[in-house]
Amino acid sequence: GYRSRAAYKLKEIDESLGLIKPGQLVVDLGAAPGAWSQYLRRCFAPKVAGQGGAAVGELNGRIVALDLLEMEAIEGVQFIQGDFREQVVAEQLAQSLQGAAVDLVVSDMAPNLSGIETTDAARIEHLIELALEFCQAHLKADGALVAKVFHGSGYNRYLELFKDHFQVVKPLKPKASRDRSAETFLIGMRLRRAPR
Ligand code: SAM
Repeated sequence: GYRSRAAYKLKEIDESLGLIKPGQLVVDLGAAPGAWSQYLRRCFAPKVAGQGGAAVGELNGRIVALDLLEMEAIEGVQFIQGDFREQVVAEQLAQSLQGAAVDLVVSDMAPNLSGIETTDAARIEHLIELALEFCQAHLKADGALVAKVFHGSGYNRYLELFKDHFQVVKPLKPKASRDRSAETFLIGMRLRRAPR
């Protein structure tokens, strides 16, 4: 089983768009308690027939996970604890990549919500901007970003930001995300390189 049902959201997104492939380098933002990392790990685990599909040997792929909170270790997943909004943390994450370009960034990060619509939209937008900035610096040209966003006053702005950075942008609300929740996901594919 998974640590949280959140795993099924990423699984649905992956099954619909085929984003996760063996051998990739994936960054999991807002990873705790770790269900997305568990799903990613399973995608990268070599399986042997007749052994119940148990993972053996080296992982075919690399996962770097980050969260504000502690996360119980997952074998094969490199974890960094820290606030993605802090430059030192973003730098630590960058260093852990050792210069390798990233195939996929997945972000299930959600800020603490105040209930004040404009404040919350600004907090969500800030996390999205930082994720997009990270993609500009580290994502492969044909890489992708999956990020949680929320319906509401800020939604069009999030969509616009995605379109500024990706040639293809798809909104997707997995069935595993409760109908009444405002949560939904944007998937950006094929990076537009920002003029430098
Ligand atoms: N995808 C996870 C899973 O499958 O287990 C669930 C993620 S949970 C919905 C959102 C996470 O985002 C929380 O663990 C929270 O601590 C993290 N988060 C929110 N803001 C963050 C930030 N600024 N930096 C790092 N993590 C953050």
